[in-house]
Amino acid sequence: MPNFKEEELDAMIAAECAASGRRQVAVILDRWLPRRLADALLQQAEAPIGIRGADLSKLHRRRLTAAIKGSSIPVAGTMGFRKAEVTAGGVSLDEVDSRDMQSRIVPGLYFAGELLDLDGPIGGYNFQAAFSTGFLAGESM
Ligand SMILES: Cc1cc2nc3c(=O)[nH]c(=O)nc-3n(C[C@H](O)[C@H](O)[C@H](O)COP(=O)(O)OP(=O)(O)OC[C@H]3O[C@@H](n4cnc5c(N)ncnc54)[C@H](O)[C@@H]3O)c2cc1C
Repeated sequence: MPNFKEEELDAMIAAECAASGRRQVAVILDRWLPRRLADALLQQAEAPIGIRGADLSKLHRRRLTAAIKGSSIPVAGTMGFRKAEVTAGGVSLDEVDSRDMQSRIVPGLYFAGELLDLDGPIGGYNFQAAFSTGFLAGESM
């Protein structure tokens, strides 16, 4: 969370814990951090596993904030093509008419889904893109 100063982050966590005191701190942190990372950071802060927002002491909260700000997690690489979920790159969107998915270069040639230079984050955006462009291309032929 490099975009927040330590004091800002501490205040954010304090506010969330006050607003959702019955929820576990790891669950509260879920909105900013992957759950397993949140668990590891709580452990680093020596806060009890499963501690609820209302029970997080100022000391543990400060340690938690320091653990978040002090942890640098460099991306070491990808897991390769076998684990890849979406392909970036493809036919340039400038070369395709978005009204019918027809090529602007080769009339009668239609594109959809992964063939296009169109990709989104995990969460259904790629399925949606494939379904929508596929439907449109199919309807337009
Ligand atoms: C492991 C995994 C998890 C994913 N999870 C998500 C997710 O949770 N949410 C999300 O939005 N997206 C997800 N995606 C991405 C999503 O699956 C794709 O973006 C989407 O399926 C693309 O649809 P498509 O029809 O363009 O291509 P594809 O689904 O790849 O379909 C292409 C089809 O063409 C066939 N084919 C290839 N060559 C030939 C040929 N010469 N002749 C005849 N047939 C051929 C292939 O066998 C295949 O059936 C995931 C992808 C993977 C790999």
